[in-house]
Amino acid sequence: MARWQEELQEAPGTPEALAAALHREGPLATGVRQAAAAFPVLVPRSFLALADPRDPSDPILRQVEPDPAESLEVEGYEDDPTADGPARLAPGLLVKYPGRALLMPTGRCAVACRFCFRRAFLPAGDRLTGGALEEACAAIEADPSLQEVILSGGDPLVLPDPALAGLLRRLVRIRHVTLLRVHTRVPVVLPSRVDDDLARLLSRTGRPLFMVIHANHPRELSAEVQAALGRLADAGIPLLAQSVLLRGVNDDADTLARLLEGLLRCRTRPYYLHQLDRARGTAHFRVPDEEALDLMEQVRSRVSGLALPRLVVERPGAPSKVPLWREAVPAGVP
Ligand SMILES: *Cc1c(COP(=O)(O)O)cnc(C)c1O
Ligand code: SF4
Repeated sequence: MARWQEELQEAPGTPEALAAALHREGPLATGVRQAAAAFPVLVPRSFLALADPRDPSDPILRQVEPDPAESLEVEGYEDDPTADGPARLAPGLLVKYPGRALLMPTGRCAVACRFCFRRAFLPAGDRLTGGALEEACAAIEADPSLQEVILSGGDPLVLPDPALAGLLRRLVRIRHVTLLRVHTRVPVVLPSRVDDDLARLLSRTGRPLFMVIHANHPRELSAEVQAALGRLADAGIPLLAQSVLLRGVNDDADTLARLLEGLLRCRTRPYYLHQLDRARGTAHFRVPDEEALDLMEQVRSRVSGLALPRLVVERPGAPSKVPLWREAVPAGVP
């Protein structure tokens, strides 16, 4: 078993194990146990090491520690906020936007983010079995308009190399699939996964392959994470980043600017800043749209244009992600 697989196996995966890893004393609060029963706990130790357990509002822990607020019923927050159900074409296959298929070969992730928009569906039976995966690939093959395949999940990089390589080979056999994309949080939460073998595998598929990583706070870009991203960039894999705007994690201009500039220094171009999808149990993470626009305005005047993501929301039924935009001309400019 590779080191990253051991690390994943040893990651605290219950609220008790997480509390122990953080040296929290005393019994678990009922609300914490309730939250963990509704959505499992999972945090690799390398990610946990970025947290300060003495800080009650630590931005790393806020993303991964079960919170009694998750059990609050808030109107408009539901299990399938992005209307994935009707877009399901085959097992693990969503087609919402023209030309793009989103394939989820696994429901597992290397971390359980409390704000996840797919939290009602994860880990959903772990991996797609061979038959179901083939059914999804056959559905892509049958639709020549699907030029781009986005591997998502779950997290496609929790698949071992042979499974990942097999899937990529299958996809590349489809002539109309001319572009590949991997959406992943693994380089950030489990950087040991990103070894030379993985970088080589992803850079030699025979198709352009873009990787979109998920990072939300500047502290997530540790030396180990920087090295992992460096390996991918050195292998020639274009790197982009998406982040979720989260109350208490990155909802101030300074933190956002440091995150975006930090990503750029890792040769990773910020792509999307997502407004939170309204998944049940995540309302306490929401930043209102007006405030999000204010933040973008502040950030826009502070960072390199290369570091600016698009602020987007997902509207069920829309043919693309929807940009949130406000014209901003600074006072005094005619
Ligand atoms: C976000 C998403 C995509 C990719 O959208 P881009 O704007 O091209 O990044 C594709 N399919 C689904 C279902 C998505 O949610
Ligand atoms: S890595 Fe992505 S899919 Fe997995 S729990 Fe976090 S937000 Fe959800």
